[in-house]
Amino acid sequence: MKYAESVVDLIGNTPLVKLNRVTEGITATVLVKVEYLNPGGSVKDRVALKMITEAEKSGELLPGGTIVEPTSGNTGVGLALVAQQRGYKCVFVTPDKVGEEKRDVLRAYGAEVVVTPTSVSPDSPHSYYAVSDRLTAEIPGAYKPNQFFNDNGPLSHYESTGPEIWRDTDGKVTHFVAGAGTGGTISGAARFLREVSNDGVRIIAADPEGSIYSGGTGRPYIVEGVGEDMWPGTYSPELVHEAIAIDDAESFAMTRRLAREEGLLVGGSSGMAVAAGLRVARTLGPEDVMVILLPDSGRGYLTKVFNDTWMRDLGYDHGEGETLASVLPA
Ligand code: PMP
Repeated sequence: MKYAESVVDLIGNTPLVKLNRVTEGITATVLVKVEYLNPGGSVKDRVALKMITEAEKSGELLPGGTIVEPTSGNTGVGLALVAQQRGYKCVFVTPDKVGEEKRDVLRAYGAEVVVTPTSVSPDSPHSYYAVSDRLTAEIPGAYKPNQFFNDNGPLSHYESTGPEIWRDTDGKVTHFVAGAGTGGTISGAARFLREVSNDGVRIIAADPEGSIYSGGTGRPYIVEGVGEDMWPGTYSPELVHEAIAIDDAESFAMTRRLAREEGLLVGGSSGMAVAAGLRVARTLGPEDVMVILLPDSGRGYLTKVFNDTWMRDLGYDHGEGETLASVLPA
């Protein structure tokens, strides 16, 4: 019989898939690593598993304890899934720009969710960082993984994401592209890939226009889960060769193309990463192998990037002209 002992054992070992249509005119091989195939639906399952396992080992998380974390949703799902399997409670703090569907998913796994305003500075007492600190202090047996300063985040990618990419490309990968939120994905995978290839893999950060990773001021953007207005401890800028800024319009246009042309229903940060990757891929040749990491599924954004009214209200191209009349035979 072939089965996993628990859903936690299904985390990681996500597949690589070649892009075939959005890469028209590009001679390099462009592969995407499909992280929505993790059991919690995102790349963050890897980080959650590592942070909880290490906190158990260090004694910071004791049996029956409560995990408190500021999270845009995906880290919460990963934490909730692992916590539930191991008997912990979860309280998550999310900014209000995060979609209601994402919060409902957290609640569905049995977590409690506290919502905070997006438009306050990171040092305001109402910021999601501050609120989660207060809850951690007040709840007995609380443990805050603190994903923006927890080395186990990047370490999980050093131990899993990076080696998987190297193994599955037979060591032929030449470029790695990922967005950065905490920066854990890109920093951990980059550290492994640069080490194992003797610096032969070029590391490219995709970043929302306005975010500080690509030289912005931290001004707002709409794409979720990526970009920052402060430097977290989990991002290692010295490992990144280049950061490419992509605006929301381009991120969302590419996100919609990935669903319609590649059959990949992914979130806006995936579209952003592919948009950045393809800019570089256009300058590459047939020997090059690019891997772009797609962090999560588009299911959490059906009322946003995949909703024509939402796109139109924000002034983005939403594929007008694809009416029923245009697809029916004359
Ligand atoms: N995309 C999405 C949708 C995310 O939720 C996250 C995690 N915040 C990222 C990208 C970025 O991953 P990381 O935190 O590892 O930089």
